[in-house]
Amino acid sequence: MRYVSTRGKAPTLAFDDVLLAGLATDGGLYLPETWPTFTKDQWRSLQGLTYQELAVEVMLPFVTPALSKEELTTLVNEAYKTFEHDAIAPLRQLGPNHFVLELYYGPTLAFKDYALQLVGHLFSHVLQKKNRRVTIVGATSGDTGSAAIEACRDREGIDIFILHPNGRVSDVQRRQMTTVPSKNVHNIAIEGDFDACQDLVKNLFADADFREEFSLGAVNSINWARIMAQVVYYAWAALNLGAPDRAVGFAVPTGNFGNIFAGWVARQMGLPIERLVIGTNQNDILARFEQSGVMEMTGVEASISPSMDIQVSSNFERLLFELLGRDGQKVDQWMTEFRQSGKNTLDAPLWNQMRELFASARFDDDQTRALIAEHLGRSGQLFCPHSVIGVESARVDEAFGRLPFVSLATAHPAKFPDAVQAASGKYPALPDRLSDLMEREERFVVLPNDAATLKKEIANTLK
Ligand SMILES: *Cc1c(COP(=O)(O)O)cnc(C)c1O
Repeated sequence: MRYVSTRGKAPTLAFDDVLLAGLATDGGLYLPETWPTFTKDQWRSLQGLTYQELAVEVMLPFVTPALSKEELTTLVNEAYKTFEHDAIAPLRQLGPNHFVLELYYGPTLAFKDYALQLVGHLFSHVLQKKNRRVTIVGATSGDTGSAAIEACRDREGIDIFILHPNGRVSDVQRRQMTTVPSKNVHNIAIEGDFDACQDLVKNLFADADFREEFSLGAVNSINWARIMAQVVYYAWAALNLGAPDRAVGFAVPTGNFGNIFAGWVARQMGLPIERLVIGTNQNDILARFEQSGVMEMTGVEASISPSMDIQVSSNFERLLFELLGRDGQKVDQWMTEFRQSGKNTLDAPLWNQMRELFASARFDDDQTRALIAEHLGRSGQLFCPHSVIGVESARVDEAFGRLPFVSLATAHPAKFPDAVQAASGKYPALPDRLSDLMEREERFVVLPNDAATLKKEIANTLK
């Protein structure tokens, strides 16, 4: 498989180079040149596989010929060893035709582990083959950071720098990043919000000399390999519910649009995914866009579901590329206009095309708290603030009840204990393996929102 940039100007690359590159040199995101599809019979033959076996089958077309099936199998088996549930991603029934896919059995208790544990192994493997080192730089609004750190810690050939917005991630989230004692792990708190962190990372990557000198790489949600690994659990859930012979819908708590875009990819590969519901908190740029066709930035507000506190959903560009007929020039124009004026509109026919598949729902903090309490009272189940938005977003869809719906539970409630306790009166306990987290020693530096200072810090650390 070769990969093309959504801006149409960067050279096409093979999987291993896309993995290491992250962002394309023209500022675009990479996507496969064509979408591999499986026939109904091929999908049927994958029913009943283990999660790991399915992962190999689903991802193989995307990594060939850079990786052999044997190599991929080894990496997949290694990656999911750190997961605590034998099913890896258990599907639990919540109500009639409504299921929750629990994606919080990885080392950092959130769905990002499902991709990043594999990506860490992919990086090590590919770097070893190429005899290279890489400096991973990433921005996090909470979960990506710890998941990336767990994926890269102590791995040969990798240094990792993770930026988080100072004071704007939960104690548990911060500690999951800053208490990792590994020498190759470096945490930086930026005086600014998540978008400031993300812009700093973009700034580093845009500096060709710096990028070259330190071999920058990214594992944030723009990295194609992460989307690819996430496709697996959509296929897993769909097959478990009777696909390809039964259509399904998914509802996904969404920030950067990376998770839900993986659902779109699973549909491209031939699975009957009929509905994709975007769930947001009050930072609802995607819900407003889905409901109006107008994408407009309005600033970020801190919420109790901080991993969805974003102003701009970077992975949306991938869907835009598809909607615009894979015309990189049009994507570039659209995105440039959006960045300049903070606003852009999708032409009505394309917007309607999007709405045939997508729906959206928005829940502010008060609604989210009420829903957490309601679920605890009704079924004894505690959801994290992101997950409960996923659960409830399914219900707004016109196909809810008719189609089996899968809501993605993206984090364990203990990852957001204060918000969950404030909402429900119940303090969610951390699983055993993290029970001493609040006593472990922290390590991080605080820097101003300034690219030059950041570059100096990275250069000094690596010296
Ligand atoms: C990252 C994250 C999200 C949002 O995922 P995207 O891929 O950015 O849409 C939702 N919930 C949790 C718990 C997360 O960590």
